Amino acid sequence: MAAKEKLKMGMVGGGPGAFIGEVHRRAARLDGQIDIVAGAFDIEAAKSQQTGRELSLDPRRVYDDYQKMIAGELAVPENERIDFVSITTPNNWHFPIARDFLKSGFHIMCEKPMTISVDEALQLEKIVNETGKVFGLMHTYTGYPMVKLGRDMIKTGELGKIRKVIVQYKQDWLSTALEKEGQQQAVWRSDPKQSGAGGALGDIGTHAANLAEYMTGLKITHICADLNTFVEGRILDDDANCLLKLEQGAKGLLHVSQIAVGEENHLAIWIYGEKKSLRWNQENPTNLKIGTLGGSTEIWKRGNAYVAEKSAAASRATRIPPGHPEGFFEAFANHYCNFADTIRASKAGTEPSELILDFPQVDDGVRGMYFIEKVIENSRGNEKWTEINA
Ligand code: NAD
Repeated sequence: MAAKEKLKMGMVGGGPGAFIGEVHRRAARLDGQIDIVAGAFDIEAAKSQQTGRELSLDPRRVYDDYQKMIAGELAVPENERIDFVSITTPNNWHFPIARDFLKSGFHIMCEKPMTISVDEALQLEKIVNETGKVFGLMHTYTGYPMVKLGRDMIKTGELGKIRKVIVQYKQDWLSTALEKEGQQQAVWRSDPKQSGAGGALGDIGTHAANLAEYMTGLKITHICADLNTFVEGRILDDDANCLLKLEQGAKGLLHVSQIAVGEENHLAIWIYGEKKSLRWNQENPTNLKIGTLGGSTEIWKRGNAYVAEKSAAASRATRIPPGHPEGFFEAFANHYCNFADTIRASKAGTEPSELILDFPQVDDGVRGMYFIEKVIENSRGNEKWTEINA
């Protein structure tokens, strides 16, 4: 097979002390198909320069802010210019940065939640459609191979008609008023101007909703929600419990919390069909448990030939033999691989296959923003069920 063209990546966000920017940089480079060549890494220019030095980048490609980065990259010869930019800033910056780079001709990989309002999300969707650029949204967890296997088993009818879905994402890191101590990630996440209207709801609720929709192939159509703020003085929610109605008569339950003491990143899903059920837990992502009525529970393990036979997507998302754990970085890298192949197809003027297009995109981002808005609306109002009509 011919070597794939290496793509050039730029980044906005991910400066000193940031969390997810460095995860993106490592994951994007995991398969040797992407190089990072430019960035505006921090809200403070000096810190952007510091990260540029730490990454040994050409100082001319390290910018003081994202607008200078757009101008600077447009001035670079086309064959050296970045192909895409990864946006790893707090949520309030996603929209203006994505909009301006898209309009300047760059593809985007954006962090979630996609924007801070439905209105911004719809505007962004329009710009993506008008520009025809590739837009990836980092809903990490659908990048796991065993999630893809579960999705494919449901798609081929192995579970039968889906009756019930339970999805949870529990953490404990905001059990105290960490934002008042100046902890970087807590400060902006608890400020509606930077985070948007959702707290835990936007931060991890959107991941849970996206996972449930991706695996079942069913959209959430209605929600009945109870949103809570347990920590005194906090403006946004730190806990949410939602009943769900999904397409085709399926029902569900989604609960997320950042005050669940003792929990780390306990994202888990249970899906019950008429014939079989499945269970997956991101803290042990290698296994997918399949339950049968009156029979034994099977544990399907990542990397085995029987998984590859059942799911080309799971096989494509696997690098090493079974028993050697793969996890969080690889899930990011899997989205980057499909995103990069879609950019290559766009450059070549060819149609990417369904397998390659298997990464979260702008429509997932729009749905995520509707989810946040409708959960808040329902929780504040008197209506029993609120429709999500995205
Ligand atoms: P963080 O506070 O650790 O890092 C944010 C970085 O962005 C900082 O370096 C900050 O200086 C920089 N920044 C802010 N405004 C900027 C601007 N205008 N230009 C350039 N740089 C700017 O935040 P984080 O925890 O890494 O979260 C960042 C984003 O990633 C958020 O949208 C969050 O929801 C998302 N996230 C996603 C996952 C996932 O699993 N997909 C996990 C964590 C965070």
